[in-house]
Amino acid sequence: MNISLILTKQCNLRCRYCFEMHEDHRMTHETALAAIDLLAHIGDRQCGVSFFGGEPLLQKELIYECVAYARQFPDIRFRYNMTTNGLLLDEEFLTFARDNNFLIALSHDGCMSRVNRVYADGRNCLAALDEKLSLLLSYQPHAFVMVTVAPNTAHLASESVIGLFRQGAGRVNLAPDERPCAGWDGDAMETLSEQLGRIADYVYSEFLAGRDVFFNNFEEKIVAVVKNRPCHVCRLGKRKPYVDWDGSIYPCIQFGGVADYRIGDVFQGIDKARQEEIYAGSLAKPAFCQGCAFETRCVNDCACLNYQHCGQMNEVSPMQCAWQRTVIRHADKLARRMIEADPQCAAKRFS
Ligand code: SF4
Ligand code: SF4
Repeated sequence: MNISLILTKQCNLRCRYCFEMHEDHRMTHETALAAIDLLAHIGDRQCGVSFFGGEPLLQKELIYECVAYARQFPDIRFRYNMTTNGLLLDEEFLTFARDNNFLIALSHDGCMSRVNRVYADGRNCLAALDEKLSLLLSYQPHAFVMVTVAPNTAHLASESVIGLFRQGAGRVNLAPDERPCAGWDGDAMETLSEQLGRIADYVYSEFLAGRDVFFNNFEEKIVAVVKNRPCHVCRLGKRKPYVDWDGSIYPCIQFGGVADYRIGDVFQGIDKARQEEIYAGSLAKPAFCQGCAFETRCVNDCACLNYQHCGQMNEVSPMQCAWQRTVIRHADKLARRMIEADPQCAAKRFS
């Protein structure tokens, strides 16, 4: 079992696509430690803690405290991860992460950061992000880099992703701006599709040169076929409950603050009946997807994304469907090219 802790709603950036309101809400020491206690009592011998925000490193001391506190449970193996904009990363934190089974994913949009990733005064933060990317990779060479693309930067997606690979990132994931107001239309999706084609060409050329770069969007779609397993299994509220800054527990991030979906708090525990009820409600497949050949390779079961886009757990938005189909089409074409060029290396890579 894993929990996600929202340590703060604040951030030191003001990305133009951010869905946070940046209120001055911070998780207290008591709440954070109660969350670790709860996880230790309801989880199993391996537990995960994800630190989120806002920007979680604004609460760096609280992260240190949580990890120190978890050592009180020597029978449980804790793993930690965090998604951060990285601006507050330093050698001290990275040494701590190295010593504590702590993976860091960096949100960095490559050259698209010039457009959408800004400080409160409007300056872009690209130079600072680049510096922190190389620092992170010197400690965690396999760290994930999380890229967000919006309609106004779709034409730069391949330059951004390929640029990040050239800066040493080995694993990159691209996510579209998921806000319903983002403004994805047919033209922007077509631009993004053309950009995915360029990224696929780059991954292929690196493969031919014997260098592995992992563009997660393609890898997960290909591996789902090779291993004959769904590429995403939601298990809403069971696998990774979300603990808001005030200790309230929700099934996942998009339900945060929605009273109907509150399933408990870190002091009283989880209301199992409500947890099961919400989980059961998330199981029905979207009617829209019945009979689709991509069903097991799509994230159409992500109740959290569906709720964000459509206000319903079992409805998929046209934008999400178009994005999934585009990724799968490019992934399949890439896999075919790799297998034709070098079947043994391709088999090894995807096994
Ligand atoms: S770094 Fe994340 S939380 Fe901060 S403004 Fe950007 S998207 Fe929002
Ligand atoms: S590709 Fe579209 S129709 Fe097919 S499963 Fe995904 S969301 Fe549903």
